[in-house]
Amino acid sequence: MNSAQSLKVGDFLNAHFACPICLKHERRVVSLIGRKRQALTTVICTSCGLVHSHPMPTRAELDAFYHRDYRVSYKSSFTPKLKHTLRYAPGAKQRVSDLLKHADDHQRTLLDIGSGSGEFLFMALQQGFKAEGIEPNAGYAEYTRTALHLPVEHTTLENAGFAPESYDIISLNHVLEHMPEPFDTLTRIHALLKPNGLLSIAVPDIAALSHAPQTRFHYAHVFNYNHATLKALLTKAGFDVVTECQGTSLIAKKQGVPNFEQIIEMTDNYELLWTQLVTQTPIKHYATAKPYRRLVKKAHQYAREWYVLRSHSDAKSILAALA
Ligand SMILES: [Zn+2]
Repeated sequence: MNSAQSLKVGDFLNAHFACPICLKHERRVVSLIGRKRQALTTVICTSCGLVHSHPMPTRAELDAFYHRDYRVSYKSSFTPKLKHTLRYAPGAKQRVSDLLKHADDHQRTLLDIGSGSGEFLFMALQQGFKAEGIEPNAGYAEYTRTALHLPVEHTTLENAGFAPESYDIISLNHVLEHMPEPFDTLTRIHALLKPNGLLSIAVPDIAALSHAPQTRFHYAHVFNYNHATLKALLTKAGFDVVTECQGTSLIAKKQGVPNFEQIIEMTDNYELLWTQLVTQTPIKHYATAKPYRRLVKKAHQYAREWYVLRSHSDAKSILAALA
């Protein structure tokens, strides 16, 4: 097997752990670079197309990374920027509306895992859910409790100590890509949900080509999903996808039981994703209209945000105006 230093894009190697979707070990190198141009080896499973960091960082290494990268948020004075609240609030409101379409009238207890700066929790409470959150980042947890008066506990899913079948609905928004043992995370969520409980989940879509290839891989995103791999992992963990979209923002229902031994092979997904990831080079990316359309969209967005923020001095008033 190659050492990490001598690997090239296209090389095959054996991972130390079985792929959580197909249980195979063979991987292929798709990238040697991460955001901010740091060295980061990313591989794809050749049997199903699941993409992940290589080697997989340990939990201790990830904790050390978060502590360095998000050190400002450990200070008590931490406050998210108002423009971020403004940016995330409409998506949070949409996710709550989507849940209302799929939840039964009696399904109202909701846990937001990784509640972040609180937009989703705020919108869920506004819509009548009995919602609460857990947040591993001390700064965010403190901010959402004191500035937004939201019921947030500073803890992790592993340490929270919830009783089984405590919630009708669980939200996991841009969290699973950070988890080094995603099947274990989904199994814990499965146990926390009541029968027929709903999971609202969103992760970045690695197949989305609107981002430049050199910003695609992030150290903290240890697994990278597309629609097929996210759906396969949910199926193994005992969930049925109930929304019919093709992206990586889904609602799933607790139906079966988790079964790690189930093997889901999707070689066509590997071939499709491999081709997409290695043929979308920076030169090709900038030769398309996508980055320029994105720039124009961003310019409009910044102008609109500047205009709206003139009339708001705190996050709670922004959220109340958008609810
Ligand atoms: Zn696999």
